[in-house]
Amino acid sequence: YTPLAELDPEVKNIIDKETWRQFTGLELIASENLTSMAAMEANGSILTNKYSEGLPNARYYGGNEYIDELEILCRKRALAAFNLDPAKWGVNVQPYSGSTANFAALTALIQPQDRLMGLGLPDGGHLTHGYYTAKKKMTASSIYFQSLPYGLTPESNLIDYDGVAAQAKIFKPRLIICGASAYPRDWDYAALKKTAEKEGAWLMADIAHTSGLVAAQTLKSPFEYCDVVTTTTHKTLRGPRAGLIFFRKDLENAKDLEKRVNDAVFPACQGGPHNNTIAAIATSLLQVAQPSFREYAKQVIRNAQTLADALVGHGYKLQTGGTDNHLVLWDLRPIGLTGSKVEKVCDLMGITINKNAVSGDASAQVPGGIRLGTSAITSRNMLEEDVKVVADFLHRSVQLSLLLQKEAGTKMLKDFVRVATTQEEGKTGFAKV
Ligand code: PLP
Repeated sequence: YTPLAELDPEVKNIIDKETWRQFTGLELIASENLTSMAAMEANGSILTNKYSEGLPNARYYGGNEYIDELEILCRKRALAAFNLDPAKWGVNVQPYSGSTANFAALTALIQPQDRLMGLGLPDGGHLTHGYYTAKKKMTASSIYFQSLPYGLTPESNLIDYDGVAAQAKIFKPRLIICGASAYPRDWDYAALKKTAEKEGAWLMADIAHTSGLVAAQTLKSPFEYCDVVTTTTHKTLRGPRAGLIFFRKDLENAKDLEKRVNDAVFPACQGGPHNNTIAAIATSLLQVAQPSFREYAKQVIRNAQTLADALVGHGYKLQTGGTDNHLVLWDLRPIGLTGSKVEKVCDLMGITINKNAVSGDASAQVPGGIRLGTSAITSRNMLEEDVKVVADFLHRSVQLSLLLQKEAGTKMLKDFVRVATTQEEGKTGFAKV
């Protein structure tokens, strides 16, 4: 055994720098979290050596007795984490990521070129929910299926459930997808179920962002209403990077749905499962089942609401005015800044955020807002008082961006951003500005 530092100091050095960045910075990206060391230990284990195409007790390779045990354990913990009755729900734990989980779910539920509806990307939906632009169908979910986005009610920026029903009546989708990447409010699954039932469509929820909060019962559960539920495992669920697909087992033709989902994952969309990742998912789900995780999820929401209140207190505009979950969508357009500029300025402050489209943006390519999340800082045990300080840092970063823009025109801010983008290791970029 040769340690990484000896065998490959170049990669070790990059890992060390990234470790330093994660530990010294404020991580406010809503889709990220800090996975436990135990889960990372499982993820970095010898299980990465093993091929196990197929399902437990039905593999295409020998030597899978322990891998079978692991996958069965992971499935059991996944159902337990979401309080699901194994007689009514099953789960496939093999998806490599949220995107492959979603594409496999679409492959299982509908035929190529069938119609689907999902929340539009500029309104907070995800690429994998059928996104395309006037110029290009750039996602598999729009290339291989006909998709129509639904949106938000203009005044409130809440999902336009009546609009979904009206669109579905004309479009006749075979599948309606709920769930989002940037929507700060809870969902009315019952309303969407009503529409799906009326039009004879499947209802699928992608709870990638909120699954930890759903598991902790701090948000509504989609399981009561949906036929299939997908999630990533690395956001609020705080596990390794991967995906899960839950499917109903209590429908007519339930066996058919189970087979369709399992066949869609392998062999339709993937090859051999990543067993090291499945072990890390299992370990993370064990943690999700602890009472302390429920406390964590509640604190994530309290922290997001504190952040929202503090920013509103500073006079800023938030989409929907606040949040029910872990994220805050900050509309920068009223103060004349773009999301990308603030993202770069925050990078220089050691605050990691991401630019994000806000409702009404002319183009998703020039987002008018930023998205903030409290999952990672809550994993670092931050409480409301700490979050108020974070809000103050954000306020000061935005004021600095404004000052640069006002004092020297946008050129200076552009220079600042350019310096931030091209800064060399060890230099902060501040000196040049
Ligand atoms: N679904 C939603 C709602 C997401 O927000 C994301 C990622 O951010 C995904 C799916 C895709 O997950 P992954 O990046 O693991 O493929």
